[in-house]
Amino acid sequence: MAQQTLAIIKPDAIERNLMGEILKRIEATGLRVRALKMVHMDKEQAKGFYAVHSDKPFFDSLTDYMSSGPAAVAVLEAENAVDAYRSLMGATKPEEAEVGTIRKEFALDIEKNSVHGSDSPENAEREINYFFNQLEIVN
Ligand code: UDP
Ligand code: MG
Repeated sequence: MAQQTLAIIKPDAIERNLMGEILKRIEATGLRVRALKMVHMDKEQAKGFYAVHSDKPFFDSLTDYMSSGPAAVAVLEAENAVDAYRSLMGATKPEEAEVGTIRKEFALDIEKNSVHGSDSPENAEREINYFFNQLEIVN
């Protein structure tokens, strides 16, 4: 079965009306959108999503930012969805992201870096279940 990953178009990108531009790149890469919706997380929901980073110095600022406005969350599918989407996103630090990646083009800084993508199939499963139930994901 094809692999799935969780993508988030973060508040900085939604604020600048970049959702269509980012979805266009996702589709152009061959990733299939299996679920998609808008969410405006509250602080607790953002903390739950990023629980893996709860001991990091950037955790409080990150969860403030992620709950500061609406985001779009999506389930993407492809044979190698996790790595394919991580490659399309580019490095966490925009100045280290390769030319042609979403973060190189659109990220504002290391925090407001426009997109999230799961970093492993195991984390993808947890992250997809955080936002979507079975009925919201198409086959
Ligand atoms: N982040 C930050 N400062 C840092 C590292 C990360 O604000 O020094 C934020 C950034 O928005 C990043 C998110 O925390 O996307 C999660 O960090 P991670 O290391 O998992 O990076 P990613 O997997 O998103 O590339
Ligand atoms: Mg990560």
